[in-house]
Amino acid sequence: MSTETLSFQTEAKKLLHLMINSLYSNREVFLRELISNASDAVDKLRFEALENDELLGEDTELGIAIDFDEEAATITVADNGIGMTRDEIIENLGTIAKSGTEEFLKQLTGDKKADATLIGQFGVGFYSTFMVSDEVEVLTRRAGTDVGTKWTSSGEEGFTVEDAEASRGTSVTLKLKEDAKEYLSSYRLREIVRRYSDHIACPVTMQSLDKDKQDERDTVNTATALWSRSRSDISEDEYKEFYKHISHDFEDPIAWSHNRVEGRLEYTSLLYIPKRAPFDLYNPDAERGLKLYVQRVFILDDAETFLPMYLRWVKGVVDSNDLPLNVSREMLQEHKAVETIRNALARRVLDRLQKVATDEPDAYGEFWDHFGNVLKEGTVPMNPNRETLIKLLRFTSTQDSVSSGEEHAPQRISLKDYIERAPEDQEFIYFVVGDNEQSARNSPHLEVFLSQGIEVLVFGDPIDAWMMSHLDEFEGKKFQDITRSSLDLPENKEEEEETAERYGDVDEPLLERIKAVLGDEVESVRKSKRLVDSPACLVLGEHDLDLHMRRVLEASGQKVPRSKPSLEINSTHSLVEHLSQEQDEARFEDLVHLLHEQAVLADGTYPIEAGTHVKRVNRLLTELLA
Ligand code: ADP
Repeated sequence: MSTETLSFQTEAKKLLHLMINSLYSNREVFLRELISNASDAVDKLRFEALENDELLGEDTELGIAIDFDEEAATITVADNGIGMTRDEIIENLGTIAKSGTEEFLKQLTGDKKADATLIGQFGVGFYSTFMVSDEVEVLTRRAGTDVGTKWTSSGEEGFTVEDAEASRGTSVTLKLKEDAKEYLSSYRLREIVRRYSDHIACPVTMQSLDKDKQDERDTVNTATALWSRSRSDISEDEYKEFYKHISHDFEDPIAWSHNRVEGRLEYTSLLYIPKRAPFDLYNPDAERGLKLYVQRVFILDDAETFLPMYLRWVKGVVDSNDLPLNVSREMLQEHKAVETIRNALARRVLDRLQKVATDEPDAYGEFWDHFGNVLKEGTVPMNPNRETLIKLLRFTSTQDSVSSGEEHAPQRISLKDYIERAPEDQEFIYFVVGDNEQSARNSPHLEVFLSQGIEVLVFGDPIDAWMMSHLDEFEGKKFQDITRSSLDLPENKEEEEETAERYGDVDEPLLERIKAVLGDEVESVRKSKRLVDSPACLVLGEHDLDLHMRRVLEASGQKVPRSKPSLEINSTHSLVEHLSQEQDEARFEDLVHLLHEQAVLADGTYPIEAGTHVKRVNRLLTELLA
C-alpha cells in the first residue's frame, strides 16, 4: 500500500496543541507514557499467545529497550509486544476514542494551570512525546502479520503512514527539540525509568554503562509485578507511580489498599482511591473497572464486574489464582468467585475510606465533593456493604449556618455526628429535601425546628430524594421527612400552653370554611404545629411520593399520579387571625387562595396558576390601598 497523509481528528488536534504548548512543567513524563504503552503491548501479546503460541515465534523474551543517539538527537523506545496494523495505528494514534472527549475539551479554559489539572484527569499518553520532540516516528508490526507500518508526524499538521520493514512490536523514535537535549544521557534516562517505571513488570533495558561491555544491556527497573511484592518492600512513591501507570491520572491518589487473600480463594488486589473524579464519571459508556491478571498474566482491562457501580471510579489491579487463563468478560459475569471477590473488594475500599475519614477529615471532605453523589448510589438495600457505606455518607444540616459575609467551607456531618449532637430522647433523624440547598433551607417546614434548635439534615440534590426513599433508619433512629404529615415533634409543652393562651385555638369551623374554598385542591386543612413565621404550608401524606422524587420520575418520562397535600395553618399567625374574622365572603376566598398559593410557591415544587394569582394579589392590593 502507498503512502497516505492524514490529519488528526479534531479532538486529537486540540489535545496535541495543548501538549505542544507544554502544559506541563514536567516534560520527562513522556518516557513514562511510552514505557507504559510498551508494557501494555507486551501484556497483550502474552495474553494472545496463551491461545496461539505461534505469535511469539523465536522472539520469546518480551521486554522494552531504550536507546539514544547523541549525534542524531534521537531517543528510541522499542518493545516486542503486540504491535499495530496499519488500520490500528491510524485509529489509535490519530483519534481519541474516549467518549465525552468533546465535552471535556469544552471545559478547558485557556488558563494553563487549570487546564493542566483537567487534562491530567484525561490522561495524555502518546501525545506527550510532542512536548519534547519536533518529529516522532513509529515503526510497528502486528504480531501474526507480515507487513509493517511506518507512521511519522511533526505534530499538529497531521501524519503519514506507509508500509515498511519492521520487526514484531513497536518502536517509537523521538527527534528531540533543541531544548530537550538534556535527555540524551544514559544517567538521566535511567533515573527517569527508575523514578516512574520501576514497577513495570517486564524488563526495561539500556546499553551497559561500562565502556568495555558496550554489547551488553542492563535491566534498569525491578521488573516484577508490583502487586506481587510484599507491602513492606514497596515505597510510597512506587505505589503512586504504579497508580499513574494504570489510571493515566497525573495526580497522586488519596489512598490505596493492597492485600493478598489466601484460603478458599486466592487473589491479590491493589485498589486506589483517586483524588478527583474523572471527567466522564457520569457517562454510562465510560471505561471503568480493574485490570485483571490471572497468575501474573494480564487478561483484561476495565474488568467492571469486580466492583459495584457505585465504586466505578476505583482504579487498580486484581490478580486471581482461581480463574482460568482463558477467562472472558462474559464468563466473568457468571463465575462464582467473582461475586465473592467483588463484595470483598468493595468492603476494602469502604474500610480504607473510613480510615481516611477518621485520620484525614479534610482529605475526606475533598473526596466527598468529588465522589459523594456516586457513593449515594450504593445505598440501595441489596448492597451487602450498605451498613458500612451509610457510615461514610456526609450531610449538611441546619446547624451549618453561614455567618454573614464569612468565607466558610461547608461543614459536613456523618449520621453518627448527628445522633451524638441530638438530645438523647430525640427519636428521629429529621431531614428536608429541596430543589437545591438554598430552597431546602428556606422551607417553612423548618421553622419550628429552627425555633426549637433541633438539627435537620438539608438535602438539595435530586439524588438525595432518591437515596432517602431507600433509607429507613440508622442505629435505631428512624429518618423523618419534615414535610410529611406524621410529624412527631419532640414535646415542647410549655411553649404550646403559652401560645394557646395568647391566640386561643383555631376554630374547627374556620378550618372547615377554608377547606370548602379549596375543595379538591388539598386533602385536608388542619392546624399546624410546625410553623412559626409563615402562615401556612403544604404537607404530604406519609405514603405520597416525595415532590422532588416525582420530578425526577417525570423528567425521565414516567407518568406519576398527582398526590394531594394537606394545608396546614399557623394559628398563631396574625393573617390567620384576620382570616377568622373576615365577614366578606369574596375576600375570604381570595385570602384563602392566596394563602394556599403562597404555600405552593414556598414549596417550589409545582407551578401555580400565575395569571389568576396575579389578578388576586392586585385585587387585594387595590382594596388595601383604596
Ligand atoms: P492510552 O495509552 O491512554 O490508550 P495513548 O495515546 O498512549 O493512549 O495510546 C493510544 C493507543 O495506541 C493505545 O491504547 C494502544 O492501543 C496504541 N499504542 C500505543 N503505543 C503502543 C505500543 N507500543 N504498542 C502497541 N500499541 C500501542
